[in-house]
Amino acid sequence: MAQSKIISTEIYDNNICKIIFEKDNIEFVAGQHIQIKTPNLFHFRTYSFYSSETCNEISLIFKIVLNGYLTPNLAIMKNGEYIDYKNVSGNFLSDFNDNNNNYFISNGTGIAPFHSFIKSRKVENWTLVHGAKTTNHVIDSSDYNREKIILCTTEDTKGDYKGRVTQYFKNIQLERNSKFYICGSSSMIIETINILKNKGVAYDNISYEQYY
Ligand SMILES: Cc1cc2nc3c(=O)[nH]c(=O)nc-3n(C[C@H](O)[C@H](O)[C@H](O)COP(=O)(O)OP(=O)(O)OC[C@H]3O[C@@H](n4cnc5c(N)ncnc54)[C@H](O)[C@@H]3O)c2cc1C
Repeated sequence: MAQSKIISTEIYDNNICKIIFEKDNIEFVAGQHIQIKTPNLFHFRTYSFYSSETCNEISLIFKIVLNGYLTPNLAIMKNGEYIDYKNVSGNFLSDFNDNNNNYFISNGTGIAPFHSFIKSRKVENWTLVHGAKTTNHVIDSSDYNREKIILCTTEDTKGDYKGRVTQYFKNIQLERNSKFYICGSSSMIIETINILKNKGVAYDNISYEQYY
């Protein structure tokens, strides 16, 4: 276990928080995750890297879970305090091939690995389909090429599609050989996989990272 100094914590709409801390000796590739905790707690929780591979600070985004063990404590950490970290691991997105037609699919903070990947690599052949309650709930929305992101919003009509990510996939025609990377809640992941399989997508063409 090691420690890193916090640079900032910022709370956004919908209780999403971004924490930025010093890079220290942390090396990672986009799609990987790290375990962190506050020094007063015993158990670690896992978070996907949100920042780019080359950024000299690490950022993560997390949902503040009401009555959660770590996140309410993490969100009130201040600049200059330390977090404990360990275990950079994972291989989500490691088989990405820019010659394929790739879909990145997320809800909530599940956008983190895709943000890291898009900010890290010069890749072209991807579409991000992201689900949020409203367009205001997408942090750093200007970081994404507007033509490559399909925002599915359930509580406003300012996105590209009114409804959930799963409904979006039910209603479109898919190139069956596309590759699908899914990240977020288990319910969204399971529902999306079932829809893709019903549309003839092979299980080998689906990868996912489940948060809870
Ligand atoms: C590989 C991996 C990567 C992850 N990356 C991220 C990430 O980048 N950002 C992120 O926010 N979380 C991420 N998570 C989830 C994270 O590890 C914690 O589970 C989450 O932050 C809750 O921690 P907690 O201690 O506050 O709540 P806990 O006390 O552990 O959980 C309380 C309850 O909240 C539920 N819960 C957990 N997360 C959420 C959520 N987002 N919304 C609603 N309910 C939830 C749990 O199922 C549990 O029932 C990741 C998990 C894994 C396995």
